[in-house]
Amino acid sequence: MGHRLSLTKLRRALSGRKKKLQEIQEPDEPYQTTPTTTKPEEGQQEEEEEEEDDDDDMNEGNTVIGLLGGGQLGRMLCEAANPLGIDIAILDEHNAPAKQAHNTNRHVVGSFKDPGRIKELAARSDYLSVEIEHVDTEVLEDIEKNGVPVEINGEIVTHRPPIHPSWRTLRLIQDKYLQKEHFKSSGKTIPIAEQIAIESGDAALDSLKKAGKQFGFPFMLKARKGSYDGRGNFKVDSEDDFAEAIKALGTLPLYAEKWAPFVKELAVMVIRTEDSDGKLKNCVAYPAVETIHEDSICTKVFMPPRDVSEDICEKARKLATEVISTLWGRGVFAVEMFLLEDASLMINEVAPRPHNSGHYTIEAVPYMSQYKAQLHAVLDLPVPDKLIPRVQSSIMLNILGGAKPDSHHHLSGLARSTYDDDMDVYLHLYNKESKPSRKIGHITLTGFCSVQELEAKAKPFIDLVDQIRLDRLEATSETLRPTQETNGSAKPAEKAPVEPATDNHVEAQELSAEAASSDKPLVLVTMGSDSDLPVLKAGLDILKEFNVPYALDITSAHRTPKYMMKVADEAAGKGIKVIIAAAGGAAHLPGMISSETPLPVIGVPVKATHLDGIDSLLSIVQMPRGVPTATVGINNSTNAALLAIRILGAFVPEYQQAMKKYQVDMEEAVIVKGTKLREGGDAAYLAGMKK
Ligand code: ADP
Ligand code: MG
Repeated sequence: MGHRLSLTKLRRALSGRKKKLQEIQEPDEPYQTTPTTTKPEEGQQEEEEEEEDDDDDMNEGNTVIGLLGGGQLGRMLCEAANPLGIDIAILDEHNAPAKQAHNTNRHVVGSFKDPGRIKELAARSDYLSVEIEHVDTEVLEDIEKNGVPVEINGEIVTHRPPIHPSWRTLRLIQDKYLQKEHFKSSGKTIPIAEQIAIESGDAALDSLKKAGKQFGFPFMLKARKGSYDGRGNFKVDSEDDFAEAIKALGTLPLYAEKWAPFVKELAVMVIRTEDSDGKLKNCVAYPAVETIHEDSICTKVFMPPRDVSEDICEKARKLATEVISTLWGRGVFAVEMFLLEDASLMINEVAPRPHNSGHYTIEAVPYMSQYKAQLHAVLDLPVPDKLIPRVQSSIMLNILGGAKPDSHHHLSGLARSTYDDDMDVYLHLYNKESKPSRKIGHITLTGFCSVQELEAKAKPFIDLVDQIRLDRLEATSETLRPTQETNGSAKPAEKAPVEPATDNHVEAQELSAEAASSDKPLVLVTMGSDSDLPVLKAGLDILKEFNVPYALDITSAHRTPKYMMKVADEAAGKGIKVIIAAAGGAAHLPGMISSETPLPVIGVPVKATHLDGIDSLLSIVQMPRGVPTATVGINNSTNAALLAIRILGAFVPEYQQAMKKYQVDMEEAVIVKGTKLREGGDAAYLAGMKK
């Protein structure tokens, strides 16, 4: 701070008295530092001038960091800045979480993607930084090269606030594919998953085929830009997924990544410092942590990672510093990595800012949390050359919005009321409105024991976190429940758009919420001929009993093959999760449908006029390898429906619970019969049966 003239000091030097930077009206005009030209009402003038002076006094002389984005990461940055006498000017919506935590007259209201507002922020700041990587890097480059004009007491000055991390780093990291190509060609040994760019438009399919050939299955299809919390990623299990993958992500620039069969996900925060000429000074790593993702959102962090050797943790830290040394600018960076089965490490991606996996440092490394480190690095203040936690272990639990706005109250209440000699509990609420899956706070637990012991101590917290998630998933599944039967006119499932955001700006959607809305069929029941309908009745009754919305159709493999293929092809896109297909004789329908859809298909062999249904059974059950088709007994549509419900139950807890009840009822019915038989004997039982 001391080595350069801050804006405040510059203002003073030029004007000899305090003036306030005003909002710019015209983008090309210099940024005004004199009071607005609007003439105050008589009698108000004195008062307003006084107020202005008061405002100016608020952060008198403090160095100002202009921050693009004001979510919880910015909020915690402000919390770290307050005792250090550093002023943070935030560009984000009015009353954004970070703005609430730091009182200054320098905040700017607007979008951190709006070039005009970014320049306005630059004019008010000594340095610029970000809490989100999805910003306009063109304007940052322009500010670095050409500066912004600032008018100070009638004089126009070109103001060039240093930008950290560099816009070069931000631009590179915004494109995940280029980010990893950069690591590959950096001259350092940085293991990444094999990747290939996917062509857009009509060429996408060939490109995907090439990826499948090169990587095998599954592989990961990813949006190159703007993804977060797993959105923008599509796991491709087979060629059958190509159409759906293109449908889900096809409008975006994409790349494919070889599947990383990881045993754990690790993350390392790194502080990167460089001098004012851009020469790397140092990269210092925090300890490696284990990150747990559920529903594609980071939910828990363990420091140190559980069941990972110190040697691997050291390697992770070393690798992280190598990775970050290849980038540009100062600040903290998160390095996400995979620990593979053979104990080797692979880089997943980098975030150029404080990160969810580093929240624990606030309490575990209190002398240099990731937020304090961000401030020190950006301002080129001293940072330690080693980062040793002051506790033995730490667990961070995210508080995600639950099914109801107050679902997390129990958890925050527990955090408020737990005082334990062996475990310290720190609650952080971000003052964000609770919405399902939204990151609204976190709890850090620290201890002087092993991480396993701390985990055991933290069990009531972890249980509550897990319960909030289960309740949320269950509530989401309620929206899948049918309100009325449908007749096959399913609407296509809506795909969540991929918008630029990071964890602090995201209102993540439940995976299952995408599955279907209340009136969308989840099961397609189709048959080769209407003569199969009577056989299917028992199964349809079961679906009704379990309140499963279904669609009905007739799709003959022999008489309407094109229509059959169309129905099979479109089923997944319409939100169908399971297909039941009934056919008799040369029963090709289930197998043919199975060849055209990635969905599970259950074949019901229907007994035709000849051969007792054995022909139907064998036609369905004898599918070639690679095209699985579940097959139930001849005419047993009941089991087909029950199996379909079990499949749905794997991701809709309510169906699973209903299935459990069905099984208990079935067991009880048999027990009652057994008791009756044992007690009454066979003759009486048979007599009862005859009735
Ligand atoms: P995001 O931007 O949403 O964080 P990531 O690319 O980090 O996206 O992927 C999200 C998660 O998906 C990862 O944390 C990991 O669990 C999984 N994942 C990503 N890439 C792969 C891969 N190549 N192989 C296996 N799993 C992966
Ligand atoms: Mg990630």
